[in-house]
Amino acid sequence: MNAIAGNIARIQSGLPAGVTLLAVSKFHPVKALREAYDAGQRVFGENRVQELLAKQPLLPPDIEWHFIGTLQINKVKYIAPFIHTVQSIDSPALLKEVDRQAARCNRTLRVLLEIHVAAEPSKHGFSPDECRTLVRNAPADAYPHVRIGGLMGMATFTDDMEQVRQEFRFLRALFDELKPVAGDAFDTLSMGMSGDYPVAVEEGSTLIRVGTSVFGEREA
Ligand SMILES: *Cc1c(COP(=O)(O)O)cnc(C)c1O
Repeated sequence: MNAIAGNIARIQSGLPAGVTLLAVSKFHPVKALREAYDAGQRVFGENRVQELLAKQPLLPPDIEWHFIGTLQINKVKYIAPFIHTVQSIDSPALLKEVDRQAARCNRTLRVLLEIHVAAEPSKHGFSPDECRTLVRNAPADAYPHVRIGGLMGMATFTDDMEQVRQEFRFLRALFDELKPVAGDAFDTLSMGMSGDYPVAVEEGSTLIRVGTSVFGEREA
C-alpha cells in the first residue's frame, strides 16, 4: 500500500458510519489524486478554479468534485458543467450566479452555505443570522437550479481545542435548527480538517475536509 492509500484507510477506519471523507487535493499533483482514487477515494475538494480546471479532465469522470475555496462570481461558469457541490457559498449574489449557471447547463447544483464562526475576521461566510434569513425567507422559486445541501464551516486556527469544539457545537446547533425548515436535501454539515476533524466528528460533522493528513504537506 502506498502512503496515501494507507492514510485514507487509517482515517476511514476511525470514522463513524455516515461521515464522508473529502480529500482536499489542492496543490497536490494529479499523480497523488490518482493514488487516492485507486485507493477508493471518490470525493475530492479544490479551492482554486484554475487548478480544478487543469486537474478535472485528467481524472476519472466518477469523481465527485467539491469546490471549497473563495469563488469569484465571474468564475462560476467554468465549474458549473461538472462541479458536484459548491461548499463555499458566502453571499446571496454568489448563490444567484450558481443558480443562473446551473440553469444554463441544465443542471441542479448542490451547495452548502458557508458560515462564519471563527474568531478571525479573514474567514468568509454568512453570519448565523444571515444564514437563517436566507434559509427561512428565500421564496421557494428563488433559486430553482440550486439545492441547499447544508452548511460548511471552519473553526478558528488555534491550539485551544475547547474553543474549536464550541464553534463546531454552534454549527451543529444551527444545522439542527435549520434542517426542519430547509427540507430533506439539507443533510450535510461540512466541518473538520486535518488538525481538528476528530473534534468535529464528535460534535456531529457529516463531512470532513482533509488535505494534509491524506496527501502530506502541501508545497505552497
Ligand atoms: C485546505 C483546506 C482544508 C484542508 O486543510 P488540511 O489542514 O490540509 O486538512 C479544508 N477546508 C478548506 C476550506 C481548505 O481550504
